[in-house]
Amino acid sequence: MHDFRYIRGRLYCEGVAVESLAHQYGTPLYVYSARTLRDHFHKLDRALAPLDHLVCYAVKANSNLSILRLLAKEGAGFDIVSGGELYRVRQAGAKTRQCIFAGVGKTRAEIEQALRAGILAFNVESEEELQIIDQTARRLRKRAPISIRVNPGVDAGTHKKITTGTKANKFGMPLRQVRRLYQKAARMKNIDLRGIQTHIGSQITSVAPFVHAVRKMLPLVREMRRKHGLTFFSIGGGLGIVYRPALESGQRRWWAGSRLDIMTAQTYAAALLPLLEPLGMKILLEPGRFISGNAGILVTEVLYVKKTPARNFVIVDAAMNDLIRPAFYDAYHEIVPLRKKGAMFSADVVGPICESGDFFAHDRRIARVRSGDKLALLSAGAYGFTMASNYNTRPRAAEVLVDGQKFRLIRRREALPDLLKNEMI
Ligand SMILES: *Cc1c(COP(=O)(O)O)cnc(C)c1O
Repeated sequence: MHDFRYIRGRLYCEGVAVESLAHQYGTPLYVYSARTLRDHFHKLDRALAPLDHLVCYAVKANSNLSILRLLAKEGAGFDIVSGGELYRVRQAGAKTRQCIFAGVGKTRAEIEQALRAGILAFNVESEEELQIIDQTARRLRKRAPISIRVNPGVDAGTHKKITTGTKANKFGMPLRQVRRLYQKAARMKNIDLRGIQTHIGSQITSVAPFVHAVRKMLPLVREMRRKHGLTFFSIGGGLGIVYRPALESGQRRWWAGSRLDIMTAQTYAAALLPLLEPLGMKILLEPGRFISGNAGILVTEVLYVKKTPARNFVIVDAAMNDLIRPAFYDAYHEIVPLRKKGAMFSADVVGPICESGDFFAHDRRIARVRSGDKLALLSAGAYGFTMASNYNTRPRAAEVLVDGQKFRLIRRREALPDLLKNEMI
């Protein structure tokens, strides 16, 4: 569910007409719904209520300070992957005690920063990293709380660029090496063994891979818990969302999911609770996309409609530097007009960048738009703005957060001097 819908032919985010936001702040523009963010967080949080648990929102999905602040207020912890994200989370006023630090390549400086901040745990991904964490903690006269990320050797069946749990991936420790690493860690004076972690990939839309991974992990989790007194088991993130709605069938609510066999917070919890409840451990989750994906749209203006014998090209003012998912992951984003139209046509929706990869849709049935019309790319709230760049020296878009009838600029559009401020001649 989400809070973008047509009211009398105009696209609204909650109680605000998106067109009025585009008018006030210009395009390209990211628009987020606070209600959707809260709703998705609580759906998951409630579904897991029978467990002692903490939902650690994966900051990399959407890291705007206002969004982190909003989720912190709702009680979220955070999954961070860099010193930059730790800095953001602190600036947003979140508790560092509820932060998990993931990633295969933490630098010494980042480890030191996290030790000083006092995080919940490092998810350790290699033996060398473990040694550096121990050394750094010794130097600071601290103890480093850690969990070890296990690669369970499970193929989540998702896109190759977002699968992380197979043997060929760089992530985590292979099951066979985990016991030895825990033994080693247990002998390190400045390491505190706290938990165990796994994360098998992203945009996973059925419960089967999660169940498979957790089942595969359980004997190891029990054994490591018994031997090392672990208190938590993090089952990662990766819960998928619906990008491809039933719009064509004429349904008004695009991705309410009625016809789609998509995993919900309830079905996810129903499948996993029976496995996790008997453990009696604290369960951590690291969802990113599930919380913010359908809570955001990217609004863009049609610059030109170019008709060639082969195709119609709708050239818009947003580009792959604003939203790279189609180019990078072959991702599908629904594209709808801010003002509903009767007539449709087939078109390629493309940005102005000098790359053939700069497209949002190929040969797609969309509203028959003209220059000056505005479009929304739906489900752009996760891995949208956070992956934006200044390629082609394009300023990054502005971001607006809507909450009921109210709205607020949460990141101003970059100005040209912003783009050059670190350069010198
Ligand atoms: C990216 C990532 C997540 C979040 O993935 P989503 O698909 O957005 O839920 C969670 N945990 C780790 C370790 C990650 O790298």
